[in-house]
Formats: sequence, C-alpha cells, structure tokens
Amino acid sequence: MENDLLAQLIDAEQLYQNAPCGYFSLSADGKIIKINLTLLNWLGYEEKELLGQKFASLLTKGGQMHFEMFFWPVASISKAVKEFSYEILRKDGSLIAVLLNASALLDEHSKLQAINAVLTNTTERKNYEKEILHSKRVAESEKKRLQFMADLVPEIIWTTTAKGNIDYVNARFCQYFNCNGEDTRSSFVLSKVHKDDLRELLKVWYRSIETGEHLQKEIRLLNREGIYEWHLLKSALFLDEEGNMTNWFGSCANINDHINALKKKDEFISIASHELKTPITSLKAVLQLLDRLKNDPSNKMVPGLIEKANRNVDKVNALVEDLLNASQMNQGQLHLNKSIFNLAGLISDCVHHIRIDQRYEIIIGGDDTLQVFADEGRIEQVIANFITNAIKYAPDSKQIFINLKNAGANVLVEVVDKGPGIAEEKIPHLFDRYYQVENKGSKYSGLGLGLFICAEIVKRHGGEIGARSTLGEGSVFWFSLPTS
Ligand code: ADP
Repeated sequence: MENDLLAQLIDAEQLYQNAPCGYFSLSADGKIIKINLTLLNWLGYEEKELLGQKFASLLTKGGQMHFEMFFWPVASISKAVKEFSYEILRKDGSLIAVLLNASALLDEHSKLQAINAVLTNTTERKNYEKEILHSKRVAESEKKRLQFMADLVPEIIWTTTAKGNIDYVNARFCQYFNCNGEDTRSSFVLSKVHKDDLRELLKVWYRSIETGEHLQKEIRLLNREGIYEWHLLKSALFLDEEGNMTNWFGSCANINDHINALKKKDEFISIASHELKTPITSLKAVLQLLDRLKNDPSNKMVPGLIEKANRNVDKVNALVEDLLNASQMNQGQLHLNKSIFNLAGLISDCVHHIRIDQRYEIIIGGDDTLQVFADEGRIEQVIANFITNAIKYAPDSKQIFINLKNAGANVLVEVVDKGPGIAEEKIPHLFDRYYQVENKGSKYSGLGLGLFICAEIVKRHGGEIGARSTLGEGSVFWFSLPTS
C-alpha cells in the first residue's frame, strides 16, 4: 500500500517534464524529437515550435561549429558526452549558459539511432563567476591604487599579519632600510631600532597587543647609511567586521630634523643664558665695588670701573641686539630703508665706530668710488660683524684687509684676516642659525647668530654671502650686492 502511494507520487512523466534540468532527445539527423517542459521554459518556446528543429540551430555560431565538429563525432564513437559547455539562444534572443551531457543510442550495427541529452543551467554560476572576477579585479585595482599612494608618502609604511609577519612594505621602507622587502620577520624592523629605545618599545608593543590600543612612540631607526634617525612610530591593529585581528598597520615618520631643532633650541637657551650671565655677573661685581667707593668719587679706580661696567653693558646690549635681530629675521620682519651711498665711506665710518684695539690695523683697498642702493645701517651691521669676528676669532692677525671690488652688476666686499682659518667641512654651516665652530666651553662669547643675521640681511638685498678659508692661513668673508 505504502509503495503504491510512493509510485503514484513519483510519476516518471512528471519527473521528466519538471525535473530541475533540461531533457531532450535528438534523431540521427540532429532534430529534436522530444523535449521537456523545464527546457522549454528556459528557452521560452512552445513544444511544437521546437519539435523537428535541428538542435544546433539553437546554438551560437561558435557553438554550432563545436557541436558539428566535436559533439556529434564524440557521441557517435564514445556513446557518451560529458560536460560540454554551450550557450543556447532563447526565443527572446538572450543567451543561457548550459552544460550538456548526452548518451547515444546505437543499433546492432553500431549505427547512431538517437541521442538523449541532459542540460544543466549554468547561467547563474557563470554570472556568479563573472561577479567574483569583477570583484577580484576591483580589489586588485584598489590595492594597486593604495600601494601607489603608500609609495608616494614620505613615511615608512608596512603591514603585518596577525602573527606579526610582514606582508607589505612601501617603497620608502625598502629605500630607507636598503632592502627588497623580502624579509618578512617582524624582527627585521626591530633589528633596526636603536638599542636604547628597544626595551621601552617592546614594553609598549606588548601592551598594545594585550589591549589592542594604538601604539605611538619616538624611536631611533638605522638608515641605509648606518646612521640612526628619530622617527615617530605609529602602529594600529586592524580588526575585520567580525572583530578578528587581521593585520597590524605600521608607519614611521622621520622627525629627526624636528628633534634636532628642539635639541639645538635647548642648547641655544643654555648658551644664551650663560653668555648673558657672564657680563651681568661682572657688571654686578663692578657696581658693588662702585657702591663701596660712592663716598670716595675721586678714587683712581672709579674711571676704570665705569669703563668696565660700560664694556659689560655693551656686551649684554650686543647679545640682546643679536637675539632681537634673529627673531625679527625669523618672522620675516626685516624692513629695509634703502638709499644710494658710497661703500668706502660707510666702511671707514664703521671702522671708526667699532672699538678697535690699537693692536689691529684695518687696511681698506680697492675701488673707493663704488656706490650701492641699500640699507646703510644694515650693511654697516654686516661689515661690523665681519670685522669683529676677525678680531674675535683671528686675534693674532694684526692686519685685517677690506677689499672693495666691482663685479659687473654687483659690488663685492671682502674682509680678509690672516688668522687660524676654518676647517673645510665647517664652512657650509657658518651662516646657519646658532652655528658655532666650537661652542662647548668656547673661549669666545657669542650666540652663533652673527653670520646668520648677516646672511639674512644680504639675501634680503638680493646679494650673496660666503666664506673661504685655509687652515693656518686665514679666512675671507665676502658678500656681494647688486649696484641698483
Ligand atoms: P657668534 O655670533 O657666536 O660670533 P657667528 O655667527 O658670528 O657666531 O660665527 C659663527 C662661527 O664662525 C664662529 O663660532 C666662529 O668659530 C666662526 N668664525 C667667524 N668668523 C671667523 C673668522 N674670521 N675666523 C675664524 N672663524 C670664524
């Protein structure tokens, strides 16, 4: 009883007509002699429209050729065809992708009588594959775009897997560490960290692994030239939508110049305080002495003490003047008051103003008719600085030469001393802010600002400034100014 019911349910014809695949049979000459409903529905035809039609006429041009050249011979010889893929034209002109399996019915002489075929619709699968391919292409091009961007930025960038193996590095990474990015161990980056920064870095690193917090730390990294440079390291954990750790993103921005500038500033503050303190302490001592002598104004020490007090006030004044000038230059507040004047005249006035010890002789040579259109006060400041430097840093050079030269559209002023000279590698830095050839424990007072101020003044006039020197022979400091 039960089996009868089942037999009723499983009606063979029903199954043939409505199976989830297409069935059809072909006669020996390739015409459709039977076709199920499912296939008719897929193609959009009525049964009567297709019976008697050649199956090949439903295929695309390429498909027809393939059908004649492969399907038919294979089916006749092997009696079966497995998974040939075709595209079939629907009645509305659209295409469906199918996989065709078939078996051949032969007579006793092995002559082909008919073919039974099964079609599975692979359009959806094909579409799905197309979509995957498209998404893959989009992801590829997105990846390339990001890599292009990552290669443009000046920071070192890399990513690691959740386990810490490096899986991407940008161009700057390879350039900075002089590598090809093939070493995927995270220890590669760690090996580049300065040993004094390593412990602290590992501490924050482990904390960040535990807590998932972003990491940020200033560390020194060894560059391709074997020099450590300060970097700001940032590292962040990337979690996917389900919250799984997938990657670590790391970047290092070079902050070496910034850190050095801060260090220089600190150094400068300490030098400036020291420089100011020395004359002030000395001034205080002089005033204490004068205080004791206030009831004895005719004491013969008084004029000397007053002279000493004045010298110290001049020193403080000169230092404060330098500080003010330098800060003005930094803020681009150097205003020029230009007029036409004779350079030789300015120089002799200037030599006159500077307190020059009897021991020094200043010899002015060259063209004394040269005129310039410039800020007289500022140019005097430059020349005075060159001369005081020659006295300060070349004290044994008893003669200081000042040469005036006509150089086409420019005039050239040189201050020449026969002092100890300056080492070649120091010369390019002489005009830098705060630069002093020997600053630690130097026997000379100064803030390393004098030549920086001179350079700013000359540059603002559209001129050039420079120095040449030979150790043991002396130095030449020069500047040029346009004549008009
Ligand atoms: P400061 O204001 O401290 O004197 P400068 O900017 O004027 O500094 O000079 C910078 C450095 O250049 C000085 O530390 C000094 O060593 C060097 N220098 C300048 N002029 C001479 C010179 N004529 N001979 C040797 N060294 C010089």
